[in-house]
Amino acid sequence: MTIKKSVTPASLAAQAMGWIDPVTRAVVPPIHMASTYERDADNAYRSGRIYARADNPTFDQAETTLSALEGGAKALIFSSGMSAATACFLALAPGDHVVAPKVMYWSLRNWLGNFATSWGLKVEFVDADRIDAIVAAVRPGDTKLVWLETPANPTWAVSDIAAAAEIAHKAGALLAVDSTVATPVLTRPIEHGADIVMHSATKYLNGHSDIIAGALVGAHDDEHWARLRMIRAQLGTVLGQTEAWLLMRGMRTLFPRVQWACRSAETLAQKFSEHPMIAEVLYPGLPSFAGHAAAKKQMSGGFSGMLSVRIKGGEPTAIATAACVELWKRATSLGGVESLIEHRASIEGPGTPCPPDLLRLSVGMEDAGDLYDDLDQALRRAHNA
Ligand code: PLP
Repeated sequence: MTIKKSVTPASLAAQAMGWIDPVTRAVVPPIHMASTYERDADNAYRSGRIYARADNPTFDQAETTLSALEGGAKALIFSSGMSAATACFLALAPGDHVVAPKVMYWSLRNWLGNFATSWGLKVEFVDADRIDAIVAAVRPGDTKLVWLETPANPTWAVSDIAAAAEIAHKAGALLAVDSTVATPVLTRPIEHGADIVMHSATKYLNGHSDIIAGALVGAHDDEHWARLRMIRAQLGTVLGQTEAWLLMRGMRTLFPRVQWACRSAETLAQKFSEHPMIAEVLYPGLPSFAGHAAAKKQMSGGFSGMLSVRIKGGEPTAIATAACVELWKRATSLGGVESLIEHRASIEGPGTPCPPDLLRLSVGMEDAGDLYDDLDQALRRAHNA
């Protein structure tokens, strides 16, 4: 790496740590396709590489860059956000107690409530935007992990990372934060006391809706981190080499993409707050939002490109509104250059805490005025106005 570590994170990301290929002087790295590496004649593996189920040189640049952006000691990229997240729980032992939010990425909540529980973890779901609820749930000596997602899907509830870290650490537990929506552009959870930062790298880190990927960043290169690395190698939840290359390519434009999305989301949140067919806008950047003060404490440079709107007329009108958009794309996921709209409750199914009148909006890189006009016409058509 040839870039000065003292430059800003935006510059580190743009140059992918300033990497230049030592042989060809290429400014973009090659993709290493090999699944295995030659062993030395004396039986050693001096290259440090053995087999590509454990790692691949194509991961190095993305892991080093992400670790630098998050201010961590180490990073690992995974085959999906889910495989990165579940590794954190599989690194615990059956019988361990964990605290997780009631409002969080639904598939992980389902996995915790089903697989993790039957595997032996004691999982307690709390209102993680209330610090007293975390205090009440944590059992000193018994709780091994407190999991946060902030802002949390799909209501964007904000958890106070520093306060939760203090509670977790006092009880002898680790604090892990799903920071997919905030990205290191807006929040660096390790600076607030988190031990592990998790990303669905499918979203903003890649940014182009063309890979599924996950990542963990560790504050400490310790025994626990070695366990996470071992889980990835043993389960084989490594990212493909082409996907790792695409992830790095996407991360180079992380800062301008996130900054653009934040500006547009803020404009849309303000304008939709005054829309006669919208009952409520959920966005951490709005002063009226319950988590605004906590968000201001730990987010800088914006409040993310994600917001949700609750539609007057309830669930059928919300679904009808989504049906009438022409520019927004009706699709799940978030954090890509194209703006997405989703009726979230019908994806999450029974038992979801998501209100049925809620549409989740992932704001991409189109013109904010075009996005407003399109949703406005869809609202009017859905309301027969
Ligand atoms: N965490 C959050 C906040 C997400 O939105 C998602 C996916 O939507 C995940 C985790 C899971 O990531 P992946 O789909 O990459 O497995």
